[in-house]
Amino acid sequence: MSEKRPPLTTADGNPIGMQQALTAGPRGPVLMQDVQLLEQMQHFNRERIPERVVHAKGTGAHGTFTATQDITRFTKARFLADIGKKTDMFIRFSTVAGERGAADAERDVRGFAMKFYTEDGNWDMVGNNTPVFFIRDPYKFANFIHTQKRDPKTNMRDMDMQWDFWSLSPESLHQVTILFSDRGIPATLRNMNGYGSHTYSMVNAEGERVWCKFHFKTDQGIRCLTDEESAKLIGEDRESHQRDLYNAIETGDYPSWTMYIQVMTQDEAATFAWNPFDLTKVWPHGDYPLYEVGRFELSRNPDNYHAEVEQSSFSPSALVPGIGPSPDKMLQARLMSYSDAHRYRVGSNYHQIPINRPKSPVANYQRDGVMATANDYSKMTANYWPNSRDGQPDEAPQAKEPPMDLGQAIADRYDSTTDHDDYTQVGNLYRLFDDAHRDRLATRIAGVLGQARETVQVRQLGHFARADEDYGRRVAEKLGLDLNKIMESAGS
Ligand code: NDP
Repeated sequence: MSEKRPPLTTADGNPIGMQQALTAGPRGPVLMQDVQLLEQMQHFNRERIPERVVHAKGTGAHGTFTATQDITRFTKARFLADIGKKTDMFIRFSTVAGERGAADAERDVRGFAMKFYTEDGNWDMVGNNTPVFFIRDPYKFANFIHTQKRDPKTNMRDMDMQWDFWSLSPESLHQVTILFSDRGIPATLRNMNGYGSHTYSMVNAEGERVWCKFHFKTDQGIRCLTDEESAKLIGEDRESHQRDLYNAIETGDYPSWTMYIQVMTQDEAATFAWNPFDLTKVWPHGDYPLYEVGRFELSRNPDNYHAEVEQSSFSPSALVPGIGPSPDKMLQARLMSYSDAHRYRVGSNYHQIPINRPKSPVANYQRDGVMATANDYSKMTANYWPNSRDGQPDEAPQAKEPPMDLGQAIADRYDSTTDHDDYTQVGNLYRLFDDAHRDRLATRIAGVLGQARETVQVRQLGHFARADEDYGRRVAEKLGLDLNKIMESAGS
């Protein structure tokens, strides 16, 4: 016997008798009272929500995180407290620069955004597949993204604009080198690492704070595409990464990643060779080893892409007791800008839709706004505090962060471009590459840098050469420029 099917209804739940336009006679016209048709057309006009300005093209999946090691000496985060403890999570991978219809296999940084539905609310880890970023001062962020998008006059992406900005922002060199290295185009989303990139803090049950960085290493191994492979793939399949992930999960080949942290004490931070809160720098593994924390596995595809992936809203401000921010300026700005973007893009109550809704109770004094449900405050009888009414939530003193000593800080607008060592770590990375890799890196860079004005090329070559002379020389040769002359005229 066939299963009883639900009745077809309007959005108000009114049964629909027949799916045809209501017309005056078989040839029309259509009647104003055809509320079924009006509802369908009006909803259709509103099917798209604003596209994300960055990370517009994304792919998501549900999974489970399992704690595998005891790190309670560093953090009191309850979802990490017991070995074997499981927490539901959702991930959204993305490219950064392309629009929603862009091809997957482009050379670009990948977003690696995770939402862990813990008993203390959501922990969002909004990372990338690279351990560093292009800039360290949030004042540059909107400017930087403009260079990655379309020129306002030509409406085309513009290599001169990109390299002009990068060559005037030497702090970008580390990320630029990773982007143009062999790891610049992941073969699949399953074959790349994720990084929290920022420095965060952890606080243990005794109220002691350490700084930490998060790493998510792929258990499938790193695999990347060459430029030739990616060009061929894009020609055949613009959704290659989405298709690969979707099909892997659908066929039970569940991908997983192992989560690690690096830890730095506050004393170590005071003497670290770089600013430990500088997003353009890593912490060398030799000095700050990786501690395993857990593992997550992706095992379920979304049922509805729009509801779950497009409307999923991640923000670094979603932090659970035991994990907190650091002074990292970029992180501080992101704490505001991500949730602000979602309030614009999805609505002021974006937290209340199922994909974003915490699986633990929510209770506060925020009310109203577009699409508010009463779920968060049905038992509360006041929308103000302090109050003496029934049903009010209790504060959780154990969640309060310990005080943070900012020393004798002088508030000022500090220049983020000068007086930093933006070259040593880039040189260290370059020297990890074998000869053939260095050559591929230089060829790729010259291919795009060559489209910029010569003054921009020359300025950028100086940065490569400062990281490693061989780096500068190789790119210069491929551009047909003489590095010696350039360095002489720069007075180096
Ligand atoms: P290590 O030799 O201990 O680590 C080198 C790291 O580089 C490994 O994590 C490796 O990843 C990663 N790596 C290798 N090739 C690439 C690539 N093309 N793009 C991005 N990462 C790559 O050295 P250090 O910790 O002293 O770091 C040396 C340099 O390595 C740094 O200056 C930085 O540029 C880079 N790096 C460092 C990381 C860190 O957290 N310390 C993280 C990632 C890069 P894997 O182990 O997966 O092969």
